[in-house]
Order: sequence, then C-alpha cells, then structure tokens
Amino acid sequence: MRKLIIGGNWKMNKGVEETAQFASSIKEKKVSTEGVDVFIAPPFTSLVEAKKSFEGTGISVGAQNLFWEDEGAYTGEISSVFLKELGVEWVIIGHSERRTYFGETNAGVRKKVEKALQKHLKVVICIGETEEEREAGKAKEVVDKQIEEGLLGVDYDDCDLAVAYEPVWAIGTGKTPHPEDAEEMHSIIREKLGAKGEEIRIIYGGSVKVHNMKEFITQKDIDGALIGGAALDVDGFVEMINIAKEI
Ligand code: PEP
Repeated sequence: MRKLIIGGNWKMNKGVEETAQFASSIKEKKVSTEGVDVFIAPPFTSLVEAKKSFEGTGISVGAQNLFWEDEGAYTGEISSVFLKELGVEWVIIGHSERRTYFGETNAGVRKKVEKALQKHLKVVICIGETEEEREAGKAKEVVDKQIEEGLLGVDYDDCDLAVAYEPVWAIGTGKTPHPEDAEEMHSIIREKLGAKGEEIRIIYGGSVKVHNMKEFITQKDIDGALIGGAALDVDGFVEMINIAKEI
C-alpha cells in the first residue's frame, strides 16, 4: 500500500508567531504521525520558525513554491538552494492559485519540478480543471495536458514525487466532487503516469474537511489529501492526521 500523505497548505496565512503557536499546540496534543507522511507548507517567512518549532513532532515542512534557477537577478523569487539550506523537505508546485493569479504555465511548472527533484525535494505537483472546463466535458483533457506538459519526460525515477488532483472549482469553495468521481480522475491520472504510476502517490485536494476526508482517502487511487483552509485549525488538522492513521 502506498503511504498516505496529509499535507497542509497554509497559503498566505500564519506569520512567525502563529506558526509557533500552532506547533506548540501540536506538541501539547502529543500527535503521532506514524505510518503517514505529514507536512505543513507555511509562507516562506515562517519556514525558519516552522523548521524549528515542528522539530520532534513528526510533521515535516514544505514550501508553497520555488524558482527554477539557483540564484541570480530574479527579484522576489526563492531558490531551491535556500529551501534546502533551511532543511525544507517538501515543495508544492503549480498550485491553481499560482496558475490563476501569477500566470504559471505548464512549461514553468515543469522547470520547477525538474529543479526541485534534482535537489531531492519531495514534490507535490498540482493539477486540476476549472468549473468551466468540467462543464464543457474537458476535465480529462485538461489534466492530461497538465501532466504531459508539466511532468512527462521529467526524470522522476528514484524521486519522491506526488501529484495532487485539485479541481479548481473545489478549492476554498466548500464544493467537492463525489468521491467516486474523484477516484475516476485519480485512476486516469495514474494510468497516464505510465510505468511508475503504481508507485506515485496521487492525493486529492479541494475543500477537504474533517467530516469528508475519510470518504476521499479510502478510495483505491487516492493516497491522501492536500488541505488548505481546514489545515489552519490545529484541532481539525490533528483529527485529520488521526483519521489517516486509522486507514
Ligand atoms: C489547497 O489550497 O490546495 C486547497 C485544497 O484548499 P482548500 O482545502 O481550502 O479547498
């Protein structure tokens, strides 16, 4: 069985102080993450604090983005070298908010994935269709293209790569696909990934909450969850870790 991933994407929430408070609540609750890969991706400015304060909790730290060059005149960007220097383990690449608000393309996503894997970061590449695309019957086509252009041909043998299927219309909206429809998309994605598909973890993201997580992550091809809003609440996040541990 593929090991489940529970990833918290804090987006632009929680500065240094709130990160420290969250971690200290986690410690008080004596959470165990045994058997599950758990990470939190806070804003860049909270990464140092997160690395320090999550130490010993079993929760790893991830970044929400990176740039594909190591250094240079790229104002506002963050290099994988800096992330490695901090001991960051995971990186989320190609989140739909990056694609929608910051113009990220499949070609750019691919360069970022290549760089992150080269640096031995664990990568979560995000894909998923918009509501318009789904209604036009193009969900599979869109996801296919995102995989082809963003990932296929990248050397990910011996790398820790996960794909997050996140239908854009489900992110932050409280709307979710039926778990069986999500499962169908996951199995299509797995097939598309080819020979390595059976090993690659494909996680679901989009309005995952305590009350609905189990129905997603118990589907055959759903190997965990990428959680946005609900990962900001420490009690809920702990509950979700516990749900995953019981599967
Ligand atoms: C996300 O940001 O990846 C996400 C899935 O957000 P939410 O859980 O808030 O829908």
